[in-house]
Order: sequence, then structure tokens, then C-alpha cells
Amino acid sequence: MRKFTDKKLLVATHNAGKLEEMRALLAPFRIECVGAKELGLIEPEETESTFIGNARIKAHAAAKATGLPALADDSGIEVDCLDLAPGVYTADWAETPNGRDFTMAMTKTWAACEDRAAPEPRTARFRSTLVLAWPDGHDEVFEGKVEGQLVWPMRGQLGHGYDPMFQPAGLDITFAEMDPAKKNEISHRADAFNKLVACFEA
Ligand code: IMP
Repeated sequence: MRKFTDKKLLVATHNAGKLEEMRALLAPFRIECVGAKELGLIEPEETESTFIGNARIKAHAAAKATGLPALADDSGIEVDCLDLAPGVYTADWAETPNGRDFTMAMTKTWAACEDRAAPEPRTARFRSTLVLAWPDGHDEVFEGKVEGQLVWPMRGQLGHGYDPMFQPAGLDITFAEMDPAKKNEISHRADAFNKLVACFEA
């Protein structure tokens, strides 16, 4: 595994919620972290059908455009009774002509479970794939997940995306009701991140 020896890392996301989580996770490593939006990078099209494929597209596009090592996350929620949908299309389920609407996406997700009369609990997991890419084209891949279930109605104001309808296994609060520091201990992104840190260690 290639070690990360630079001081500056580009986080290749335009998603403010993800950037904030990545910054918090990277803070202990004293790595300067800059967001893709701050550098005015355009978001590449995610044309692959896997988390790894799309994370690679984002990380390599950002590394190539800036000459900096770039970290990208591709993530989503898989619902077992929906044959793992929305999965890699999680963000797409929130698209509207006026931007992303996650209340609509969560309503649609629960309605799809109801349509199938799926028994409860409606088990689900968040997955995160992190790709660290260097400007010379090398990359390292790290995968994480967190198991849980969907709840309805949605609960909580914190977090982002589908957090208000996801309750991690063994807990009785949703990600959106949870202290962000606690979410950062158990989330899919934290799981992938705990594998990535091997790159930062001397
Ligand atoms: P992408 O990785 O940018 O393609 O988008 C993944 C989508 O999955 C996001 O837009 C969110 O809707 C959802 N997602 C990923 N991680 C989380 C999370 O930690 N909480 C809630 N939703 C998430």
C-alpha cells in the first residue's frame, strides 16, 4: 500500500455534509484538507454502476485537475427488501429540477417498501467506498459499511442525506438524532476511513 506523505489533501466532493465529516475524520492527522468546490472544480459525471467505479472517477478527475492527491467517497444506502436499491443511485433518487430533495427521496424509499408490503424491520446498510488517488494515476481503495434498519416517520435534524430514516443496528436513534461525533465513530465512512489511516501511518 502506498503511503500518503503529503501535507495537503483534496477532498473530491461537492457535498457539504460529506466534506464536514471528512474534515473531522482527518483532523487528528494534521493534514490540510481542501474541498473540490473551494477550488472551483466541476463535478465529473458518475457513469459507473459500482461505488468503486464512481469513487475512482471522482478521485482521479480531481487529482489530475489539481496535481494534488485526492480523496473521493462514493456512498449510498442499500435496502434489502428493495433488492439493494437505491444503492449506487442513492443521490439520483433525490434529484429534482430544483436540486436534491432528500425528504422526497426518503418518502419514495419508504413508499417502495410499502408497495412490496415488506415485513419490518426493513434492514438496510450504508456503504462507503473511499478512493485515494495520486496525480500519477496510482490509487488505493477502502470500503466500509454500517448495518441498520429504515424507520418511518423520519426522525432528527442533524446529519445529511438519508440520515433521518436510518437507525443503526443495536441503537434506538437515527443518524439524524445522533451527535455527529458519535456518527463519526460508527458510520460507513468511519469504517472505510479506519482502513485508510494505514496510508497515513509512518
Ligand atoms: P454520492 O456518493 O455523491 O453519489 O452520493 C451518495 C448519496 O448517498 C448522498 O447524496 C446521500 O444521499 C447518501 N449518503 C451517503 N452517505 C450518507 C450518510 O452518511 N448519511 C445520509 N445519507 C448518505
